[in-house]
Amino acid sequence: MSSDKSRPRAQWPEPTVDAPKYYELSQWMVDGVARSTDGCTVETDGICEHGHPSWLLLLGYV
Ligand SMILES: [Zn+2]
Repeated sequence: MSSDKSRPRAQWPEPTVDAPKYYELSQWMVDGVARSTDGCTVETDGICEHGHPSWLLLLGYV
C-alpha cells in the first residue's frame, strides 16, 4: 500500500492580473463563468488555454 498524500498540489503560473474583489468572485459563482489569473474567461473550475486557473479554483472556492 502506498500513500500519495505527500504529493504537492499542481503549481499554477503566477497571476498576471490583479486579484478580483470578493463580490466579483461571488458573481462568478452565480454566473458559472469566471476569470482566470491571466484575465481569460473560463469555467468556474476551469483552466485557460495558457495554463492559468480560474481565480475561484486558485483560491479554493471550487
Ligand atoms: Zn489565458
